[in-house]
Amino acid sequence: MTATATRTVRLVSGDEVTIPESLVGPESLHTDNPRFVGMSPEGWVVVEAYGLRYGLTPCCGASAKGSMVGDEPAIVCRACYAEVDPLLGGEATVNPDDVWQPDEDPIDPESLGLVLDAATERVEALRATAKECAAMGSHVAAERFYAKASRLAEAVGNLRQIG
Ligand SMILES: [Zn+2]
Repeated sequence: MTATATRTVRLVSGDEVTIPESLVGPESLHTDNPRFVGMSPEGWVVVEAYGLRYGLTPCCGASAKGSMVGDEPAIVCRACYAEVDPLLGGEATVNPDDVWQPDEDPIDPESLGLVLDAATERVEALRATAKECAAMGSHVAAERFYAKASRLAEAVGNLRQIG
């Protein structure tokens, strides 16, 4: 097993587990990134990817896969090909007490960027509407749209500083 950056996280039960850092990164738009969910009753690290939860092998922290051991079909570790508990080949369950709830909800810069871009478009649209209202002589409506636009623009500005 190669050395990877690890992180110790605290589960709901108060227990701590040390797992690869890559499993606890910010939630990504790309669902092929396995993300730590918690510990299974069997003591496996359970991750979620593609909306599926599966346990990682105790030997290598890899996913399991079907293979042949001799002439028999078996579930093996994807990394070292050792035969593992056949249950690792199926969907894993997590002990309710052993769920991981991240303390801080890290903001995924990619998702935030998309939200801010959409909000910025909305600001432009509100200003355009305000201009139209003003051109038609509806100054009260125009003011309302301008006010909305500047409140939203301010919020976007604040969030851009975080991101
Ligand atoms: Zn292995």
